Amino acid sequence: MSIDQNQLRLLPSIDELLQSSGGAGLIAQYSRGMTLRAIRAALAQARLDIFNGSTCPSSEQLLAAAEQTLQQVMQPHLRSVINATGVIINTNLGRSPLSQEALQAVQQVAGGYSNLEYEVEAGKRGSRHTHVTTLLRELTGAEAALVTNNNAAAVLLALSTLAMGREVIISRGQLVEIGGGFRVPDVMRQSGCMLIEVGTTNRTRIGDYEAALSERSAVLLTVHPSNFVISGFTESTPIAALAELAHRHNLLVMDDLGSGCLLDSAQYGLAHEPMPQESLAAGADVVCFSGDKLLGGPQAGILVGKAEILERIAKNPLLRAMRIDKMTLAALEATLRHYQRDEAAQHIPIWRMIAARPGKIASRATRWASKLQAQGIDARTQRGESTVGGGSLPGETLPTTLLAIDAARVSQPLDELARQLRMRNIPIITRILRDTLLLDPRTVLEEQDKEVVLGIIEVLGESVK
Ligand SMILES: *Cc1c(COP(=O)(O)O)cnc(C)c1O
Repeated sequence: MSIDQNQLRLLPSIDELLQSSGGAGLIAQYSRGMTLRAIRAALAQARLDIFNGSTCPSSEQLLAAAEQTLQQVMQPHLRSVINATGVIINTNLGRSPLSQEALQAVQQVAGGYSNLEYEVEAGKRGSRHTHVTTLLRELTGAEAALVTNNNAAAVLLALSTLAMGREVIISRGQLVEIGGGFRVPDVMRQSGCMLIEVGTTNRTRIGDYEAALSERSAVLLTVHPSNFVISGFTESTPIAALAELAHRHNLLVMDDLGSGCLLDSAQYGLAHEPMPQESLAAGADVVCFSGDKLLGGPQAGILVGKAEILERIAKNPLLRAMRIDKMTLAALEATLRHYQRDEAAQHIPIWRMIAARPGKIASRATRWASKLQAQGIDARTQRGESTVGGGSLPGETLPTTLLAIDAARVSQPLDELARQLRMRNIPIITRILRDTLLLDPRTVLEEQDKEVVLGIIEVLGESVK
């Protein structure tokens, strides 16, 4: 191997690069230490390239390589992405985007001190839970409310308070795994209660619960199956019948709704998602649900129900380990206020997406397509379906119009195009169905439309057949 010593000798020194105006610019932006490391790496790569027969890069090229490394390294690890998947509550993509009002509330509270656990008028210690209890009671008709950092915590906390060392009766049709490893039977074991399964996967009658009652029974639990539907020959026991049975035997009914839906989903052409107010009215003693599913707020667990029961839960020392954070509380209160003011469907992003008019979505898809066509990209629109996701309304879809790019019209495989769209500064997450790359405007925030079109142009511009 003949190494070109002359080419190696042409490489500038680290100091030369650091002291150049380009180097100084990088130091100002990224710190001296980070810049030094990136320049070292760029020089090492250049030496390797020269060994392999390349000529010596210019100082500008070396600094550009260093800058690229710095940009990559210094990019926030947790960052925003564009959700073009059409799954509205996408757990992998952070579930519910917050409303503008919720964001402002977080900023207000988190950027300074707050009355998180302080009663301003009395000038003494207060409780963080009081900030949302009145609202939750008003919105659900519950006697009392309590919040935790997520719904899994709410379930664990409630069961461990109400049924530790005792039996919890649940239908076999509801022993579900929600995703991310949340399995109802495991959570029940962790909370120290014994699981008594009754009925069959598709049918559980009130008599099945009744036959399982014993001295050790504490709670009849119902769990919303969330991410699947059993169809055909099915029967589940209504809450009212369970409550009647439980209360006759001095037991409690707990309902894990998963998604706390405070608006009637049926008005948007979806199936009716069970609502906390309905469970409570039917006699459930405690109902729990997530803050970031159909409620459209921050990650949180919400417990509503009978005052006496929630007082017991609030005294459980585990609550301290599951307590809600001030930023979450601020966002949760602002989100609940949208329901109080009857403006949830206009202000909460996931409800705006659910309620979006088909014509509006179609015109966005058409606009995307025509902008792309103007750049020589063979994009088209097609009818498709969006889903609600997030363990709510399983099997339910909303008609939508998708932007479609066919594999036959581009020179690269679709999964490579999808990867390049994900590798952008603001990653664009799409889906591939057979031979078509699909983007759903429903889940793309309107202010991101430009970025979507630009992203496709930059990725596809050179790959058009
Ligand atoms: C989603 C879900 C949970 C878990 O809620 P997190 O807020 O994600 O902790 C529990 N139970 C049911 C039925 C669910 O759908």
